Amino acid sequence: MKKKKICILGSTGSIGRNALKVISDLSDRFEVSGLSAQSNSSLLIKQANRFRPKAVAIGEEARVGELRKGIKGKIHIYGGEKGIEEIARQEEADTILIAISGSASIGPTYSAVSSGKDIALASKEALVSAGHIITREAKRKKSTIIPVDSEHSAVFQCLRGAEISKPNRLYITASGGPLLKIPKRSFGNLSRKVVLKHPKWKMGKKISVDSATMMNKGLEIIEAKWLFGIDVDKIKILIHPEAIVHSMVEFVDGSVLAQLGITDMRLPIQYALSYPERYRSMLKPLDLTNTQGLTFDKPDIDKFPSLRLAYKAAKRGGSAPCVLNSSNEMAVRAFLRGSIRFTDIPLIIEKVLSQHRRIEFPSLEEIRKIEEWVKEKVEAFCLFRS
Ligand code: MG
Repeated sequence: MKKKKICILGSTGSIGRNALKVISDLSDRFEVSGLSAQSNSSLLIKQANRFRPKAVAIGEEARVGELRKGIKGKIHIYGGEKGIEEIARQEEADTILIAISGSASIGPTYSAVSSGKDIALASKEALVSAGHIITREAKRKKSTIIPVDSEHSAVFQCLRGAEISKPNRLYITASGGPLLKIPKRSFGNLSRKVVLKHPKWKMGKKISVDSATMMNKGLEIIEAKWLFGIDVDKIKILIHPEAIVHSMVEFVDGSVLAQLGITDMRLPIQYALSYPERYRSMLKPLDLTNTQGLTFDKPDIDKFPSLRLAYKAAKRGGSAPCVLNSSNEMAVRAFLRGSIRFTDIPLIIEKVLSQHRRIEFPSLEEIRKIEEWVKEKVEAFCLFRS
């Protein structure tokens, strides 16, 4: 059997490492053609020596030397932003998995869809900031974007085999994050440890903070809008702490389809890599007799103002979601280094959004400029707070 060649951008992060687990469990089905990382050269070297891709790239160009020293045999080694783009356009790959954290994923995602290949997309930020450009290019080049985000993978699976008619509504489920049961009055003094401790998913730091503020769901609404071409008013968030139903689709006749599964990112990753087929899995199957019931509730918008901000930016459209996304990313970084409090995150986003002059169809270049402007604004705010 011909093996499917997978190229992974962001192979040292949480999604990238899980993808390599899936690939090694299914080594009769998959092989690795390319790998890239931003800075973790020691892990990238180990991965390259084990999975033997054709090429690897490291974002921090100064680390190319370490790769040359550590990687055995003949593997092409690239460095810098250009090197990552090289891997994103890799000729040999059948599917390109994009698992780069944050806005840094925009350029590589655009390059990957331009190649016309299947894209397994984990980096929601690329669609939030540049969804209009990326989805248009994907259509033009006939590149299929298969979501890796568990909720969107669920919706994508529910929509397969459905008539071409648009769904009536999407229900994006949310575990509620680590602060679901913590009262809002104690949010001001939350430690990073509490914020980073997600009850259901083990993830990278950025997305863990986004889960605590619930901005993760805000970004996911916008991600869903671009992936499924559906109006944000028709995308609802449902708090579902058991995290077993990964999302649902309601059709015009009132029928609702759901996708269920255990809480393990390897499930949506494997589906995105095996699509349009399904392969066997090494994971434990879901045992519904072992769950203590499934519950659903509305989100608390007052407690989590990031949700309100996200809906507002999504409805304004144009460059507003890009400002939402990059101000959130900068504010999360500031929180993680201890410069601001947890409750400052939505305050900063709201302030930056209110000062932004919206552009209808920002180009990739304009998006870069907006990100620079946002960075200055957020840094000024952090100085003022400290
Ligand atoms: Mg998700």
